[in-house]
Amino acid sequence: MPALAFHQVDALEVQPYVAELSVLRGDPRMEAAFAHIADNYEARLQDLVTLTEIPAPPFAEEARGAAFADMMRATGFGDMTIDEVGNVVARRAGVAGAGSVMMVAHLDTVFPAETDVTVRIEGNRYTAPGIGDNTRGAIMMLELAAAIAAADIRTEKDIILVGNVGEEGLGDLRGVRHLFRDGAERPDSFIAIDGGDEARLVISAVGSNRYRVTFNGPGGHSWGDFGDGNPHHAAARAITRFVNAARPITQEGPRSSYNIGRTGGGTSVNSIPFESWFEVDMRSGNPEKLAALDAVFQQAMNEGLEAENAVRGDGDLLTVEIESIGQRPAGEGDPASPLVQRAQALLQAEDVEPQLVASSTDSNIPISLGIPAITISRCGTSARAHSLDEYWIDDGVVPACTMRGLTLLIAEAGLAAD
Ligand SMILES: [Zn+2]
Repeated sequence: MPALAFHQVDALEVQPYVAELSVLRGDPRMEAAFAHIADNYEARLQDLVTLTEIPAPPFAEEARGAAFADMMRATGFGDMTIDEVGNVVARRAGVAGAGSVMMVAHLDTVFPAETDVTVRIEGNRYTAPGIGDNTRGAIMMLELAAAIAAADIRTEKDIILVGNVGEEGLGDLRGVRHLFRDGAERPDSFIAIDGGDEARLVISAVGSNRYRVTFNGPGGHSWGDFGDGNPHHAAARAITRFVNAARPITQEGPRSSYNIGRTGGGTSVNSIPFESWFEVDMRSGNPEKLAALDAVFQQAMNEGLEAENAVRGDGDLLTVEIESIGQRPAGEGDPASPLVQRAQALLQAEDVEPQLVASSTDSNIPISLGIPAITISRCGTSARAHSLDEYWIDDGVVPACTMRGLTLLIAEAGLAAD
């Protein structure tokens, strides 16, 4: 979905982190890790092709997960597990014995299993479904893991690297939801690798509530049973009430939206349908806005039902079913958090002007829980994501961008004293 920028970047605020990060980057262990990234870059391009060519449709990420797990194990980064839902979790213990930083890159793609995922290479352009979003993100995570292990970097906090399932579409963030399930350990901060543009930092979560609504009734003949409750008429009454009530909510304050995306039902023009269904999507980066839209939606569905039932003849009452088909929590990130300030400072140090935006990514879950979280670029230039002609360009600054990702991760985890 298109991201929207709404925070102004204040360059002055990041000053304390400029000094901290320049010390960190000058540490010999970090320099060794950077050299590892640069030296192994070509080999990782081969891994990008290998991983892209293993299909990973929603709810069927196992094969890619297994290959990713093998690649992660080969880095020597840390202890590996594959959890109940298929997340590949690698952990490197910190020296402090407490606290953790979690980094994720989603393994799933939007493409069905039968999609041709053969990679075409023309110069520095790599074309294949899923290559950018988010196979390159998974590869970047492997680069960081390998560099940390090779340079023998130890941190204060544990680092948890996760190749996660279920980010896209109906996956509904199930991989990261599982990581943050009730009772699970909560990391101190969270970094998702999943953006196409190196300057863009997702710090707020556009939440969405999605429903499939079905009005049901006895159905019948348009002439012979005229007067019986009509599910399409009920749906029309409900939708009219919803859009009338929702519009003013979206016209002021934080951005929000609503959309009826699909409708259906009915058998012929001269039949009263026995069902009428539609799907609705509501979004906002602001949890109160999303809740307000949801409230008028629920009320409108019931009022539409009652209004149609009130005018019907003696036929059966109509009923309505409202099924949730997606819930992504909203949340506004804190631009002043050390995580966001560090990410900005790293970009500004290389004359890249950061853009702080809201979007829908794996960071939605921690942001909604009040845990500092950010989604950063997977590096390189991604284009045409979610289309069959998706491509990724090795734009010449991939290692430099990857090194920033490493620096952010280690700054958050705290480089242990030598
Ligand atoms: Zn993605």
